[in-house]
Amino acid sequence: MHLTHLACTLCGQAHDATLPQNVSACCAKPLFAHYDLAAAARTFTKDSLRTRAKSLWRYREVLPVRADTDIVTLGEGFTPLLPAPRLAAKHALRSLWIKDEAQNPTASFKARGMTTAVSMAKQFGLKKLAVPSAGNAAGALAAYAARAGMEAHIFMPRDTPRANIIECEQMGAHVTLIAGLITDCGAEVAKRKTAEGWFDVSTLKEPYRAEGKKTLGYELAEQLNWTLPDVILYPTGGGTGLIGMWKAFDEMEKLGWIGSARPRMFTVQADGCQPIVRAFAAGEKFAAEHLHATTRASGLRVPKAIGDFLMLDALRSSRGGAVAVPDDAMIACTREVGALEGVFVAPEGAACYAALKTLLAAGTVQPEESVVLFNTSTGLKYLECYGG
Ligand SMILES: *Cc1c(COP(=O)(O)O)cnc(C)c1O
Ligand SMILES: [Zn+2]
Repeated sequence: MHLTHLACTLCGQAHDATLPQNVSACCAKPLFAHYDLAAAARTFTKDSLRTRAKSLWRYREVLPVRADTDIVTLGEGFTPLLPAPRLAAKHALRSLWIKDEAQNPTASFKARGMTTAVSMAKQFGLKKLAVPSAGNAAGALAAYAARAGMEAHIFMPRDTPRANIIECEQMGAHVTLIAGLITDCGAEVAKRKTAEGWFDVSTLKEPYRAEGKKTLGYELAEQLNWTLPDVILYPTGGGTGLIGMWKAFDEMEKLGWIGSARPRMFTVQADGCQPIVRAFAAGEKFAAEHLHATTRASGLRVPKAIGDFLMLDALRSSRGGAVAVPDDAMIACTREVGALEGVFVAPEGAACYAALKTLLAAGTVQPEESVVLFNTSTGLKYLECYGG
């Protein structure tokens, strides 16, 4: 609502927010949305939230869409932050929560990014959207594009979980399966988009999916009564949610809602695809592509991320870290979380729990710290992983 301009995340140069934009013209890096927070603060107060709808649109003043009539919604966001006392007790942890993102439309947190991206596409009068996806972004785009009466052109690896492929087809999307990875799908979209008249909504290659995902940060703070946890474990592919939360913390500090303390942010990846873990360990600013990437946690199968430097910045300045876990360990963790807490987590969510065990064993996370795990989708979308 109070969007003023976009800025390049590498060099800071301002860009026009009244036109559709992809990456920055200056550096070909992600663009961030900037707001007049002083103007927003006139109506956007902690008190004002008490009576608002239980969706991420409760944070309306710091979301980009100009007119309410352009909002394309399926009721996304404000998912429960579930206490996990039995899992916590098992590890003598003081407090542990699961942010259950499976409870979004399309059963993954990709709904957050797509509600804002598709709403902005509507504001700009765009009609044909395209996306390369490891699975859940495709399902979310298919649903929100259908809701908006737009075309969705979707490119996914051939071995994407069946549920994602069927979901896209049943939402009326144009689905192309590619023999390759999400990076190959991205190359296909880039090659064809101009001739086909598609607008590319690849994560962090348009400015507004990150705005939807940043609401994770607002929700955590609101649900913890305007405090933040000590530690956040985030299953990382493109990193949009991690980068988005980090941005939200800064906005909330400028609004005077929180102080300068930040959670320690941890990226969780799979052994078979860990570009950020490697770059973090090597002290690099950017992350090299992880060649021959493989993991059954399809949301983590992102060998190269355009927002790599933003993630690495957040991990380092929060004094967090980056952990990779083997597929077998993460899949085995599903049953542990399920049997103790009643949540059928996705492999990506299970990976966070597997990583927590690693961090506790190494003494990197202490039992007296408060910890939030992200469950970003549901095991029901990944039945193949459980012999289904
Ligand atoms: C996309 C996805 C991720 C990774 O999210 P990013 O914000 O792109 O890092 C994690 N888990 C699931 C289930 C996903 O679909
Ligand atoms: Zn730049």
